[in-house]
Amino acid sequence: MDPDEFRRAGHAVVDWIADYWATLEQRPVVSADPPGTVAAALPAAPPTVGEPVEAVLADLDAVVVPGLTHWQHPGFFGYFPANTSGPSVLGDLVSSGLGVQGMLWATSPACTELETVLLDWLAQLLDLPQRFRSSSRGGGVIQDSASSATLVATLAALHRASGGRWREVGVDRRYRAYTSAHGHSSIEKAVRIAGLGTDGVRPIEVDPVTQALRPAALRAAIEADRAAGDVPAIVVATIGTTSTTAIDPLPEIGAICAEYGIWLHVDAAYAGSAAVCPELRWSHAGLEYADSYCFDPHKWLLTGFDCDAFWVADRSELIEALTVMPEFLRNAATESGAVIDYRDWQVPLGRRFRALKLWFVLRWYGVQGLRAHIRSGVALAARFADRVRSDDRFELAAAHPFALVCFRLRADNDTNAELLARVNRTGRVHLTHTRVAGRYTLRLAVGSPQTAERHVDEAWTLLTDAAKDLLNP
Ligand code: PLP
Repeated sequence: MDPDEFRRAGHAVVDWIADYWATLEQRPVVSADPPGTVAAALPAAPPTVGEPVEAVLADLDAVVVPGLTHWQHPGFFGYFPANTSGPSVLGDLVSSGLGVQGMLWATSPACTELETVLLDWLAQLLDLPQRFRSSSRGGGVIQDSASSATLVATLAALHRASGGRWREVGVDRRYRAYTSAHGHSSIEKAVRIAGLGTDGVRPIEVDPVTQALRPAALRAAIEADRAAGDVPAIVVATIGTTSTTAIDPLPEIGAICAEYGIWLHVDAAYAGSAAVCPELRWSHAGLEYADSYCFDPHKWLLTGFDCDAFWVADRSELIEALTVMPEFLRNAATESGAVIDYRDWQVPLGRRFRALKLWFVLRWYGVQGLRAHIRSGVALAARFADRVRSDDRFELAAAHPFALVCFRLRADNDTNAELLARVNRTGRVHLTHTRVAGRYTLRLAVGSPQTAERHVDEAWTLLTDAAKDLLNP
């Protein structure tokens, strides 16, 4: 494909995406096709002769799109959002077009320096503690996901807990990790990959009302492990748990970590974006205790997957834990000590230019635009919660500090599961569920930039219609 062919095909693809976004609302949010439908519609072998982009676009329409869950649909309320936006797509396109590798400063200086500046911008935007800024001992980096952020935080924590021996001797003691019983599954995975074993992570009891980690239970678990000769290495606290957006009490947890010298990683994968709004920053109280912190602009900040922003308070601990220097990567800039080599801040060596999509997003929306996006989600969720509150047949199952509402019919678990299934079968909206203290609970997470009041109201109408049928069959 030469540059002129690319220009022509590229315009057609951008048109295709714009048309897709413009017609999203008319589509069912989730595909109703049975498993195997897409695979069966694809040829058994690749084409022998090259085809025009128009032929691929035709098959996108005919085969791929009908098999999609439309995450950008205004009626998509499942899981947590995975926003994208025009500027994000364009920034990603430029990144793909440039095709640079940013593993070392020397392999593409702008790739590293733009990322460092953007992570400082983001730290400013969220008003993160000074020690996370690159002008101090800390700094930020883009990871592919919050899961990777937790993994590298765990490795840095092992480096610290072992007094620097972990690099040479590996896991030679029973190191322990702690998180609330509602901590994300990626924490257990990180702990397992790090070699601590399945029981390396201690799930700590939550408060029955707030669903947040109980500091007294954390302290008791740490004390018990220490008494048994185990080494507490890391606590992962969550701002905005996946089930209910509970907020672990960082000031108390941070004080415990400081007392025992334990690494504190704060996972704000979803809710971190809320801190762009000054009125929501209370959720980050106590963050000054954290050794590392992450949030996903790819969830709620209009930046397409993948983009996790991760900071450490002391970059040297992370770098010492992860650095390996083969001869083929040696270069004068690295040896001068004056540059950042982001390969030392992550698991893979190679890294693409993710900062570009974030740059496009920050410049297009500006601080005001990003705040407006978050505020709109919070207001729409509050509107929906008001509907739930005003209907005696329903109840709220948890607080809704951000844009997720957890609610249920005052009925048994099976009836609630049936309610969810019926509403989702309409194809107009898509909600998911969790369990809160064993009770089946529906989750409505607002996040798509296209979602407006009428979409939230439609979700409520569909729910109340289905509830009427279920309660009075
Ligand atoms: N942590 C929390 C609190 C989450 O809600 C999620 C995903 O929903 C994750 C971590 C994992 O995110 P990622 O897909 O970026 O690894």
